Amino acid sequence: MKKPFLAEEVRKEFPILNRKNRGFSIAYLDNAASSQKPTQVIDSISDYYRNFNSNIHRGIYELAEQAESMYSSSRQHIADYLSVKFEEIIFVRGATEGLNLIANTLGSRLKTGDVVILSEMEHHANIVPWQLICKQIGATIEVIPTLPEGNLDMEALEKLLRSDRSKILSICSTSNTLGTVNPILEITQLAHRNNTLVVVDGAQSIPHEKPNLKDLDCDFFVFSGHKVFAPMGIGVVYGKSELLNQLPPYQGGGDMIDQVSFKETSFAPSPQRFEAGTPNVAGVIGLGEAIQFLSQFDMKEIHDHENNLLVNAREQLSEIVGFKEYGTTSNKAPVLSFTIESVHPHDLATVLDAEGIATRTGHHCCQPLMEKLGVEGTARASFAMYNTIDEVNRFVQATQKAVSILR
Ligand code: PMP
Repeated sequence: MKKPFLAEEVRKEFPILNRKNRGFSIAYLDNAASSQKPTQVIDSISDYYRNFNSNIHRGIYELAEQAESMYSSSRQHIADYLSVKFEEIIFVRGATEGLNLIANTLGSRLKTGDVVILSEMEHHANIVPWQLICKQIGATIEVIPTLPEGNLDMEALEKLLRSDRSKILSICSTSNTLGTVNPILEITQLAHRNNTLVVVDGAQSIPHEKPNLKDLDCDFFVFSGHKVFAPMGIGVVYGKSELLNQLPPYQGGGDMIDQVSFKETSFAPSPQRFEAGTPNVAGVIGLGEAIQFLSQFDMKEIHDHENNLLVNAREQLSEIVGFKEYGTTSNKAPVLSFTIESVHPHDLATVLDAEGIATRTGHHCCQPLMEKLGVEGTARASFAMYNTIDEVNRFVQATQKAVSILR
């Protein structure tokens, strides 16, 4: 039985939302950059350090056994949430490290002339790691264009997939700039028909959509904890176990081995193989707690609330002369990227900040997309479950004020 979702009630669980920003109640609209943390998550980290802190894996005493058990239960909660197996969940620092792990291990199996397919809307975290490995190997990157409303050009993708050289497709489930929700199931089916492996950068979809990775059938999926109400410095790589166990390790060190001698080392199976050294135990526990926090609610109710905020903000802002939204497809996450003619996004954000409203401006780590859109940067308001219509109204009014001052 899910708890009824009420934004006004939920926001009470996020203590930071009581603080002020430049003397005004904070309206935090920068959730695509990072989310705030509920008391349940903050308390779980504090509880770990107050009562359970010790290194895991090696301790033969109660404290270490309890820490180990909390660490393992978190992995199990996350695996259950994603509908995958315990050993298919690897803990990393975040989506960026996850994508580097995949590019370095899976990517090391590429050969000269092979192709990695990316899309034009990728975050730098899903471009640069592939560029580094492709350069080393002599493999090539091909790019799926984005259509004017922000959707992927599926015909172009199908064409790219027809080539036998296409070995890996790495793509975001949701764009951090356009908000576009990509059709991952359809993409995976198309790619698999061509024997192309699919890596999904789930950084932006995870706070808004519960993925069933078994059904989606993607080969890898990564996300960062901090975008889903968990602490910074923790993230997840999911990989199909049969693939993970074929991959070489990412980093060497303690805990990821089976036997070590100066002549040779053999490696533990997944997930240990990919978790060298002392892990971020508190971060893992916080992430497990955040996933449990999210699991209380029906994601459809959260989606409807967030979409209502997006639609409301767009409707009001589009009355401003010179307003332009980037990413206008109907199937969108609550991310509103826009420009207003003759108003620099940085100036706009400065005026909003003075009214207590936190937004983001710039290229959003998507320089190739900015080039395609023909802008240097955009303003971006991104909503989470705890935002309210009242905050949207404040944001719109402050934007109108900024336009009257700056234009
Ligand atoms: N991919 C996408 C789509 C993102 O939005 C982000 C964060 N902005 C990342 C990857 C990288 O995440 P992190 O910085 O947490 O590693």
